[in-house]
Amino acid sequence: MSVATIPLQWLIPTSISNGFLFRCPLTLKQLVKDDICSTYFRQLLKVVEIDYNIRDFHLELQQQSSLDLYIYYKDSKEKQGPHRTTVCISCDKTTELFSITLISEQQHTRAWFDGRNRPKLILTPIRHLHRLSEMTDKEFSSFWFDAVTLADREFGDEIWSSMIVNHGVYRTHEHLHLKINFDKRVWQKAVQNWSEERKDKIQEMQQLLEQKDIYEKCFGSKKTNKYGGKI
Ligand SMILES: [Zn+2]
Ligand SMILES: [Zn+2]
Repeated sequence: MSVATIPLQWLIPTSISNGFLFRCPLTLKQLVKDDICSTYFRQLLKVVEIDYNIRDFHLELQQQSSLDLYIYYKDSKEKQGPHRTTVCISCDKTTELFSITLISEQQHTRAWFDGRNRPKLILTPIRHLHRLSEMTDKEFSSFWFDAVTLADREFGDEIWSSMIVNHGVYRTHEHLHLKINFDKRVWQKAVQNWSEERKDKIQEMQQLLEQKDIYEKCFGSKKTNKYGGKI
């Protein structure tokens, strides 16, 4: 495997109010297709985690014709880290939600509906990992390939609005999650075309989530954070 050379400009962040912004002239899909996505993202994470020594951060991808990668880290003191739960919903196959929220399983990843039924898809590594940088090369390149494939398969060409991976205290779940967010209207339009089987599944998921014990087991207790907002 050849090691791609990543332009230095892609790896020099601009300062923004809550962190950094990296800009890349290619889209995520182009990066994956050209087989340079994992090399680029690995080097970018090295800049953040090693050069700047930032371990707690919110990574957010947004794209129009090119890709913007935001690293938010300056409000880490306000974050409380993952909720305490008795099970890992991304690992424990015995939880009621596991099979209902699971969309597909790949060699290194699982794709899910959001366990709280928000307009997003979730991608997790099969292994119980906490950070992107803990992945092996194979896991890491599969992860981004699978993210693009999943979003395309479910919603068509690059229509996602953002992709988010939280690290350290920015996490709400221990197990690493990639959240692929969609505009509400895009989501609702797609939902109309879902099979009856899938619609039933979502309904079943909603019913399960109304049971307090199941909700708390999977997501922790529904209390408010110190600012009085819902966690
Ligand atoms: Zn896990
Ligand atoms: Zn853990």
